[in-house]
Amino acid sequence: MNQFRGYRCSLCGTEYSPDEVTYTCPKDGGNLDVELEYDLIRKKYQPEDILSRKDYSLWRYEPLLPVNTPKGENTPLHHAGWTPVFQLNTLARELGLKHLWLKDEARNPSASFKDRASAIVVARAREIKADVIVAASTGNAGAALACMAAAVGHRAVILAPRTAPPAKIAQLLIFGARVILVDGSYDHAFDLTVQAAQEFGWYCRNTGFNPFTAEGKKTAAFEIWEWWLEAHRDWHKKDSPLNDHPPLLIFVPVGDGNIISGIHKGFKDLLRLGWIQNLPRIVGVQAEGSAAVARAFHANTEIITPVSANTLADSISVDLPRDGVRAVRAARETGGTYITVSDQEILQAIATLGRVGIFAEPAAATAFAGLVRGVQTGLVHSDDPVLILSTGSGLKDIRAAMQAVTQAPVIEPSLQALKQIL
Ligand SMILES: *Cc1c(COP(=O)(O)O)cnc(C)c1O
Ligand SMILES: [Zn+2]
Repeated sequence: MNQFRGYRCSLCGTEYSPDEVTYTCPKDGGNLDVELEYDLIRKKYQPEDILSRKDYSLWRYEPLLPVNTPKGENTPLHHAGWTPVFQLNTLARELGLKHLWLKDEARNPSASFKDRASAIVVARAREIKADVIVAASTGNAGAALACMAAAVGHRAVILAPRTAPPAKIAQLLIFGARVILVDGSYDHAFDLTVQAAQEFGWYCRNTGFNPFTAEGKKTAAFEIWEWWLEAHRDWHKKDSPLNDHPPLLIFVPVGDGNIISGIHKGFKDLLRLGWIQNLPRIVGVQAEGSAAVARAFHANTEIITPVSANTLADSISVDLPRDGVRAVRAARETGGTYITVSDQEILQAIATLGRVGIFAEPAAATAFAGLVRGVQTGLVHSDDPVLILSTGSGLKDIRAAMQAVTQAPVIEPSLQALKQIL
């Protein structure tokens, strides 16, 4: 038995039982927060019960999830999550920071953060015996769903904009999903999948719209919590001055706003269980050309006004963010903020991360670009411990990567020609 109690609307607060609703609030369309049996969890588990588990995937957090681990073992679905955290000492020095880390979500089975959400949605689909899962995607959510569904023999239908990067479309096709390219934007694909799900009785994974996507994404917060405990243990040993450091700053790239909401939810779950005392500060980073959430945040409102999105960071190119309200709150309720960056700064960030061995797609590099901007504008101080979330692999968008570097020269295969060029 899992700990799923029901839903609570993020706008009007109405509570629903698990069978009463499937997607958003019937009254006002608000995103639904999944409610767990917190009292039961608290009685049954101590943090040590989680920390000592031998499962090195997001399924180690099963006691805090609204679904059970699907049967079977060792498929890609069972290996989503548990991504490494790297220390970026060189870049920290260059930025004048004492502590800088990067959590590399490219290590997920389909090479993006979206596997976390898709793993949980596929598990849910199996529990409610939904046959076909459909998703609109700029590429990664679809690739993740196609991958997780394929891993356990489930059917997936993906609608993506025809302009999605070819590598992402290749992933969809290779994973055997039914792929339909829409001559329109992500937002068009989104609305169409919602209609299709209704018409054909499919289960819709759409980001934010489906309450389980945030439940998958919150597992990154749990991993950060574990890593942070581990890091503190080390610091304590060395009697480090970091015992009195400011709270962790987490930089998250934001499109629909579901990753940032999910991470916020994960920390809120830990707070409700009494397993942490304070929340880390969460900073959302958006591309200037797709900044509906950042604008709402800085206008001090929860009313999200759509934009006409235009950025090379396709994974965060969104007209109307589908989880905008909770995304605004993630920064506001944790003492964080929102930062916007230009496409030029994103390309620069791709090149900078490359120099230390990390290949990030544009949306993923956006978090680091936001940090650079945050340091320049004095938002980030030298003793702030910073973790940036790198959400997807650079191999997913080679065209963008090539814009971030100068072309390689071509020479005749002779030592003379090589000498000349060197
Ligand atoms: C989807 C995605 C994001 C943004 O997540 P949202 O939930 O849409 O805010 C960032 N980076 C990558 C690589 C993504 O695929
Ligand atoms: Zn509501």
